[in-house]
Amino acid sequence: MNRQEIITSLNSHPPTVLIIGGGINGIGTFRDLTLQGVDTLLIDRADFCSGASAASSRMAHGGIRYLENGEFRLVREAVQERNRMIQNAPSLVKPLPTTIPIFKTFSGLFNAPLKFLGWLDKPSERGGLVIKIGLIFYDAFTGKNRTVPKHVFDGRAKALKKYPCLNPKIQYAATYYDGIILSPERLSLELLLDAEKEGSHVRALNYVSMVGGDGDQVMLKDEVSGQTFAVTPHLVINAAGPWIDGTNRSLGLQTHYVGPTKGSHLVLDNPELREAIGDHEFFFENKDGRIVLIFPLFDKVMIGTSDLPIENLDTARCTEQEVDYFIEMIGRVFPGITVSRQQIVFTFCGVRPLAYTQTKNAGQITRDHHIQEDKLGNIPVYSLVGGKWTSFRAFSEQVTDRALAFLGQPRKVDTRTLPIGAGKDALALKTDPIYTRTEITGMAEREKIVHLDDLVLRRTLLAYLGQLTRPLVVELSIVLGDCLGWDAAQKKAEVVRTLEILADQHGVRL
Ligand SMILES: Cc1cc2nc3c(=O)[nH]c(=O)nc-3n(C[C@H](O)[C@H](O)[C@H](O)COP(=O)(O)OP(=O)(O)OC[C@H]3O[C@@H](n4cnc5c(N)ncnc54)[C@H](O)[C@@H]3O)c2cc1C
Repeated sequence: MNRQEIITSLNSHPPTVLIIGGGINGIGTFRDLTLQGVDTLLIDRADFCSGASAASSRMAHGGIRYLENGEFRLVREAVQERNRMIQNAPSLVKPLPTTIPIFKTFSGLFNAPLKFLGWLDKPSERGGLVIKIGLIFYDAFTGKNRTVPKHVFDGRAKALKKYPCLNPKIQYAATYYDGIILSPERLSLELLLDAEKEGSHVRALNYVSMVGGDGDQVMLKDEVSGQTFAVTPHLVINAAGPWIDGTNRSLGLQTHYVGPTKGSHLVLDNPELREAIGDHEFFFENKDGRIVLIFPLFDKVMIGTSDLPIENLDTARCTEQEVDYFIEMIGRVFPGITVSRQQIVFTFCGVRPLAYTQTKNAGQITRDHHIQEDKLGNIPVYSLVGGKWTSFRAFSEQVTDRALAFLGQPRKVDTRTLPIGAGKDALALKTDPIYTRTEITGMAEREKIVHLDDLVLRRTLLAYLGQLTRPLVVELSIVLGDCLGWDAAQKKAEVVRTLEILADQHGVRL
């Protein structure tokens, strides 16, 4: 069914479950529910995977530092999920060697007990001993089914031999393995398209907002045509990520489930730095324990991330101060490499949908997930609070099991070992990102593209990797527009819109 056919069908054939929010948690739950045969409608007010899920650091990781907070359940689950992602989507999620440069030996030993006693305001930098203990636990969580190798701990001389550009003041370097999600945008889309293969009980619409609730009705608005319409589901799943509380308010529910923090990244075209890191992510702390990562992303380097409280979710941007901070941090680890602002090809920023808490330090807020339940008339509303990209499958399974229990239906399909997309033989992402016309046409036909920026920001990595030029944007508007039935004026308007978004949100001026 095309977009209009789906909207028309909702009247005669209302969905059993409505999922609000097409980020990874909404899409993961959508896939799981539809695999069980549940009639489900997924909506997102913007494009799929354009909220927090597009702003992640692309790490499929357990989160070694959460061990210090005593979050063993979370880390064990996330490590298992990391391994499953590598196995189930091998072309999109790959093992990632991660190196921690360590400047101290005993520092940070008391972070965990002080946190336990509630006396820790800002954690101090973690030294070699704490990191070694953490890595022993982390390896243990990977279990017998080793998807990634065990960690290696090197002294100063050996580390500097392996990574000659590292700061000579380091005392050790520890290397362990996590995973890299090469394209979170594509992975989430593959999940969505997998779900759509299940049949006509599976309906997904981007650019459709939830705008209100009245009794057992939920009001939706097509953001393309402006048309509003009502649906009458038996269950509502609020997967609006950082916007969960605002979404509940639109339904008439007063909640305070989320305490959002923003995180920024930048992508650099710096061949010297790219060569210095090789295929390793460098993961380290500044002096007050905040985490910085330097990440190999194809031929570019991605730097992130900050963790700052934010009130106005829709205005999150990577600021000049954050850029300064990232550049300063690179200098701490690779002091001989010059980084300039002119090398920045892309910036992005997103808001973490963290559970609301009184904790003073953003880095200490739990990344665990849970479901909150409220009622809209007689309809239960599940809010999906918190979570990590990495653990989306486990969270989706938890939500689906609860929904199935409510609907009185059995689980038919287990997602733990289910391949994603074409699974083991999936299409490989090309390192040469100049796509053919056939590829763009295929995306236009199958991938729910509404605007040109959906293509350049989320269906491809062209913007991320600094490979866009103005002529390329114009050409893409023509190829895409021909498929989507745009006239010359609309193609031009899409180019203007895309150039504005690139400049305003990502620091890209073409
Ligand atoms: C800076 C940063 C770095 C991160 N790094 C990592 C990492 O490396 N590894 C990891 O595992 N996790 C990471 N995370 C966490 C992870 O990205 C998020 O937890 C996850 O993406 C949340 O997904 P979600 O589906 O809940 O929310 P979102 O992706 O935000 O999806 C919510 C969707 O709801 C839609 N919506 C909102 N209101 C409405 C409405 N009224 N009607 C319709 N739709 C609506 C929005 O448009 C949005 O698309 C990071 C997060 C951030 C912000």
